[in-house]
Amino acid sequence: MPSPFCPPLLKMPQKLLNTAHYIELGSYQHWPVLLPQRIRLYTYEQIPLFLKENPYITDGYRAHLPSRLCLKSICILSNETVNIWSHLLGFLLFFSLGVSDLSSVLPDAGANRKDYIIYAIGLFCFQVCMLCSVGYHLFSCHRSEKTCRRWLALDYAGISVGILGCYVPGIFYAFYCNAFWRQVYLLTVLSLILAVFCAQIHPRYLSNDWKVIRMTIFSGVAGIGVIPACHWVWLSEGFTSEIVQLFFPRVIVMYLIAGSAFLFYATKIPERYFPGQVNYVGASHQVWHVLVVLMFYWWHQTAVHIMHFRHSRPCLGLSSSFT
Ligand SMILES: [Zn+2]
Repeated sequence: MPSPFCPPLLKMPQKLLNTAHYIELGSYQHWPVLLPQRIRLYTYEQIPLFLKENPYITDGYRAHLPSRLCLKSICILSNETVNIWSHLLGFLLFFSLGVSDLSSVLPDAGANRKDYIIYAIGLFCFQVCMLCSVGYHLFSCHRSEKTCRRWLALDYAGISVGILGCYVPGIFYAFYCNAFWRQVYLLTVLSLILAVFCAQIHPRYLSNDWKVIRMTIFSGVAGIGVIPACHWVWLSEGFTSEIVQLFFPRVIVMYLIAGSAFLFYATKIPERYFPGQVNYVGASHQVWHVLVVLMFYWWHQTAVHIMHFRHSRPCLGLSSSFT
């Protein structure tokens, strides 16, 4: 319903006027948004039960759409637009990083076959994570609940793959001179991620009742990285060693970004305190998306630095016999 406060739509053709939808941004003004035919935005009360996940986002929902219109809705401003585009741009970022790594960063660093494999795995995982997220946010408005659930499952699978993409280069370069522990941790992390995939098959895994269990599993899989991190500090002879002094602060920053991302995700801040005022821009899930991209980017840059460090100081002594 047009608001009496909306700006006049001067000389706008009648056909376009009929498709204009008025949204509230920042609660102080109403903006007209042109929607393609057959796409309209709904309030929280109007959407189907399976889409009701965040009552503090009160408007701007797409719903009841066939696949073609879900895809078309990428061009409209809805409460999912920032979520879709943040990870679409994230995908493009990691794709370009992959191209630049393969064409210049790795050749310039004198990388060997293993370095190439590790970088390829890490960046591939990040790209898969981004694309699964884009897919979910694009198709979460599908008219079929089953389709929406499948995309949600894929989004969760993508997060696991993203976590794997952080662990693989982290463990590889942390235990660069210790093949035994490198294999132990890589296998442990792979098994954990596989276990999470298996848990997703459980019919109630995606239900709202299991929300806390889902969050516990994900934060557990991400948080368990503290164990290899502490072990790496210990094997590197503590905080006096050069590698620990250089890279331990980077690990801390990584966990700080991950922790704050999770905090926004779980607490639904800021919309909890400003219901209806951050429907389109500034909602917690959007902050979570941006922080995830930042975290992956930070970790990729850390991997580049630690690879240069490892190449500049070959493994020595007893530990080198394990490599
Ligand atoms: Zn998301």
